[in-house]
Amino acid sequence: MEKKPIYFDHAATTPLCKEALDKMLPYFSEVFGNPNSQHYYGRESVKAVDEARDSIAKIINAKPNEVYFTSGGTEGDNWALRGVAHAYKEKGKHIIISPIEHAAMLTTAKALKKEGFEIEYMKVDEFGFVDLEHLKSIIRKDTIFVGCMMANNEVGTIEPIKEIAQIAHANGSVMFTDAVQAAGVLKIDVKDLGVDLMSMSAHKIYGPKGVGALYIRNGLKVESILTGGHQERMKRGGTTNVAGIVGFSEAFRIAIRDIDKNFEYVSSLRDHFIDRVLSEVPFVKLNGPRENRLPANADFSFQFIEGESILFSLDLAGIAVSSGSACSSGSLEPSHVLLSLGLPEELAHGSIRFSFGKHNTIEEVDYAVDVIKESVQRLREMSPLFKAEGEIKYV
Ligand SMILES: *Cc1c(COP(=O)(O)O)cnc(C)c1O
Repeated sequence: MEKKPIYFDHAATTPLCKEALDKMLPYFSEVFGNPNSQHYYGRESVKAVDEARDSIAKIINAKPNEVYFTSGGTEGDNWALRGVAHAYKEKGKHIIISPIEHAAMLTTAKALKKEGFEIEYMKVDEFGFVDLEHLKSIIRKDTIFVGCMMANNEVGTIEPIKEIAQIAHANGSVMFTDAVQAAGVLKIDVKDLGVDLMSMSAHKIYGPKGVGALYIRNGLKVESILTGGHQERMKRGGTTNVAGIVGFSEAFRIAIRDIDKNFEYVSSLRDHFIDRVLSEVPFVKLNGPRENRLPANADFSFQFIEGESILFSLDLAGIAVSSGSACSSGSLEPSHVLLSLGLPEELAHGSIRFSFGKHNTIEEVDYAVDVIKESVQRLREMSPLFKAEGEIKYV
């Protein structure tokens, strides 16, 4: 069989772990009941879903009835933002989110704007950290929702969620965090953080695609976005994805069991990679911080070169990475995250995200650095921009 490329795109998705796959398999065939059914087959499935809910609730320090299963991060983000906006619209129509949220949040916010909500964006600094003083200055009596991701999918910045939640609550606003990149990687306690809602997704943590959960604090008003049957305590219609939920719970359990080991290992790959690129490749900028950064993430802008052309060279050399975020690559727009960090448009265009995983090796990382060095030099030799500006300094 042909050798598969090296996979450095774990922020886009991860392979399903063996433990989760094994746990899921019976739920596709033998244990197939609809949890809504009032008979033996239904009860078998109810048991599996209840166990998964208990396990996930325990991991994030929530009560089981505060965990609502969804189809993934996108649905969780949509539900939190739309559901709170619609439930609290009599109180106010002002919504604050960070400018570096996932598209699931940004496009939902734009849709709400058309409905008459006012959307304002927190400032972030050059590393992507939310400016808390700025947030305090824009929050108002009629601010109903404050939303900020726990960790950014493109540049890896880990946000001060507890402090943001304190500011939101001091004002009586609802606090939401998108923890899709953080769950299973960082230790999360929803009560200690003080968040009212939190979205998660299975496929970013070696679980199956198309399943996730939204934590909703008991007592919080949230309107449904998927209306239908009585599933999820009447809040989210649709026949329960039993196998997916079982796989999510098992993948989450394994991620937490190995959390310290994986954090240390993946950070060591990333640090070795960042150190080598910064010292061996000229005219390169690391985007995002060195401290308080997701262990898997390294994001670079290569001056004088289009991100797409490096991506193409790496693809040819058998290395799978993404330019900007997986969702915006393919479009020729510069990254909204990098623009928010204050990068000029050329650099926001030329960025490449490397996201490492637990199966990667130091040899793969070293090979990638060698390929980057060679490709960057070759592409720059062809670049008129580089000839005009860079050549003088580049020896
Ligand atoms: C991947 C991702 C999402 C979307 O999750 P899906 O389960 O793929 O819908 C949302 N937010 C962040 C930060 C992500 O990385």
